[in-house]
Amino acid sequence: MKKRLGCLICATALGCVTACGGSGTQVQTQESKTETSAEETTSQEETKAGVYTPGTYTGEAGGYGGTVSVTITVDATTITEAAAEGGDETPAIGGAALEELAQQIKEAQSGDIDGVSGATITSDGVRAAAKSAIAQAKGEEIQTAKGALTDGVYSVKSTGYSWTGMISADVTVKDGRISDIVITEEHESETGEMGKTAFDLLIPRLIDSQSLAVDAIGGATSTSNGIKACVSQAIEMAGGDPAQWQVPVEKKSDTVRLEGYDVIVAGLGGSGISAYCAAAMEGAKVFGIERAAKLGGQSATVTGPMVIDSKAPAFEGVEFADPDEVYQVWLDYVGSDEKADIIREAVYNSGAYLDYYIDNFDFEFEGMIMSFAKPEWSQFWTSYVGEEGSRNQFGDNKTYQYDRAMEKAKGLNEANDYMLELTARELIFEGERVAGVKAVSYDGTVYEIYGDSVILATGGYIGDEELVQKYFGTSLNTVAATVNDGAGIKMGLSAGGAVYQMGVDPMIHILQVPNMIKNDDLTPDQKAILTGLALVSGEKTVSIEGKALDLESIGTTNICSIPGYRYYVVYTQEQIDAYKEKGLTENFGAAVSMFMGQGGEIVTGVPVEDMDTILDVGIRYKNVLKGDSIKELAAAMGCDETALSEALGGEETTYYAVIAAGYTYGTVGGLDVDVNMNVLREDGSPVENLFAVGTDSMGVENVEGKPYTPWGGQAHSWTFVSGYLGGKAAAAYGTEK
Ligand SMILES: Cc1cc2nc3c(=O)[nH]c(=O)nc-3n(C[C@H](O)[C@H](O)[C@H](O)COP(=O)(O)OP(=O)(O)OC[C@H]3O[C@@H](n4cnc5c(N)ncnc54)[C@H](O)[C@@H]3O)c2cc1C
Repeated sequence: MKKRLGCLICATALGCVTACGGSGTQVQTQESKTETSAEETTSQEETKAGVYTPGTYTGEAGGYGGTVSVTITVDATTITEAAAEGGDETPAIGGAALEELAQQIKEAQSGDIDGVSGATITSDGVRAAAKSAIAQAKGEEIQTAKGALTDGVYSVKSTGYSWTGMISADVTVKDGRISDIVITEEHESETGEMGKTAFDLLIPRLIDSQSLAVDAIGGATSTSNGIKACVSQAIEMAGGDPAQWQVPVEKKSDTVRLEGYDVIVAGLGGSGISAYCAAAMEGAKVFGIERAAKLGGQSATVTGPMVIDSKAPAFEGVEFADPDEVYQVWLDYVGSDEKADIIREAVYNSGAYLDYYIDNFDFEFEGMIMSFAKPEWSQFWTSYVGEEGSRNQFGDNKTYQYDRAMEKAKGLNEANDYMLELTARELIFEGERVAGVKAVSYDGTVYEIYGDSVILATGGYIGDEELVQKYFGTSLNTVAATVNDGAGIKMGLSAGGAVYQMGVDPMIHILQVPNMIKNDDLTPDQKAILTGLALVSGEKTVSIEGKALDLESIGTTNICSIPGYRYYVVYTQEQIDAYKEKGLTENFGAAVSMFMGQGGEIVTGVPVEDMDTILDVGIRYKNVLKGDSIKELAAAMGCDETALSEALGGEETTYYAVIAAGYTYGTVGGLDVDVNMNVLREDGSPVENLFAVGTDSMGVENVEGKPYTPWGGQAHSWTFVSGYLGGKAAAAYGTEK
């Protein structure tokens, strides 16, 4: 780092800025460095006097998940304190990098810092924010002028959302501007349908604004930042400084008032669309608000819903589970009949309500799947008919079914409408009464939407780190859409509503290493071996407390009962050496991650010569911990040494602990509702025109202290059941009023 600092100083003294920019300077600086060191120190002392106006200054810029800020405290000559903040950065990546980045600024006494690998966008943002704060401390104009770029086409690649491969792009620089961004290879479509919205929307917006601070596309943050990282690399290759491209993008500030709706639906995923359709079918005038740039939400990635006693042709000849049995098992599971009327609806009408959507809104399903926890319910849940020719890790694309249903529902009343990239922020009140929803569009426009009733359908609180910490005591790995950050639940609480079973463990069906390696630091086969080391059964497994863990007895539907939703598979050095020489044992053959494979495969019985590379990269990405003794491993795991020693049989050797982390599907607990999905207050009285459906109210069919009901498909069935009941009730309220 010193090198660049050297460069900066000489510039000040001698006025040769441009020379300093390029690599050539470094060579020069190198030589001049030795010469100028003594000279430099004195001139630094001399020149430093009065460089800053003592005080505290804060600069901001675009980061990975949102705005990052750097606050520096300076005396006349030195940055004495530096802090970096970024509440929306990914906790385990950008979030974890902030402290180190702040330390780098203090050490470098400048914004020209190395950054943290793997956190490119966060690092770019912190650099720009630091430079802004330093310029303020110097009383200088904040450097917004972008350095010159060399025209050309730059081939770059970056990680995005997908774990099956990177995003490659050709970025064209013409006349010093980013004139084109062509995606030459992408794997985002292999892990969902959200990525496409970023390719379609972010690229034109980035070219239009010529700024890396353009907002990520709602619901596609990771892909958006993958594209930004590509452009950031191209700017560097063209001789520019990406930090100078973190120019805030102007936002609109006008407010638009929309009124006259019977029903307003906040969140157009599975349950929101079901509610919208049911309300429209009742003749209501409906307005829908969707934060992401496409319809369907998380529901567009599911396999399908539980179904009992459907009359639809698709299920002809199906021997459905006995609803009386399912109903009783369910009541016994939650251990109370407080919500028996709701569970009765969820069981006895799961088929009828699904048929309603099949008949009226063309939803299509095929095949039947056995229940997870009750194999005797051999035909218990079904799967969506997917889009012809599409394929992603979560099954065929399904968004087209939601698009089709919404077009039909919109057509039921000319007043019906919805908006995408519109985020519901708060309820509008007239006195105590809910009168509508205030929402903000991606371009900054504020919408005040007035209607007689409001349905909350924003998919739970998986994306709200504070609530996640409050109810689960740890950060979570997730494959769910983190735009589902509890907005609906918070709006319900703001209206006096109460929560119900809020602390039910999150839904977890998938295991993988906690920090997926999405770039080429490992080959797909090496990634498969690392995953195999984490997911294999029949090896020593210990909990985060260092206690022995019997995975067989826990089973795949109870992963959420494991402390911290993760565990370690512990190997001795001797075992690792044996894998190197003779290969992995048979039991590794089945150690693959459902939905989160990375394209490679494990071949057992073949020497794993590159095992050290796999473990070293695993250690670098914090997926593997190493200890040359039980004491050392316990320290690395942060657990009790005695417990670990007992679990490992007290054998002293070198150990490797590979982490298996549960990836959540979403949260479960939410607002308290009655059988009409009317939000209830603590005293059980309804907030008359406020309703909650889907994950925002799924606590009513679950119970804290037990995993989310493990039958199979009932979370998604709940989107149809609660959507139907809530949509009809809201429409009845709206149209009768
Ligand atoms: C990978 C995966 C697979 C799954 N598979 C199954 C399965 O096979 N079967 C099953 O039963 N369950 C499954 N689930 C669980 C699934 O999440 C639920 O079943 C259900 O689909 C959730 O529906 P929802 O309407 O509550 O949430 P979503 O469908 O996510 O809808 C919430 C919507 O609200 C929007 N939103 C959020 N905040 C705001 C805001 N402030 N303003 C406006 N809009 C907002 C979101 O963008 C989203 O569109 C799966 C989950 C995941 C992650």
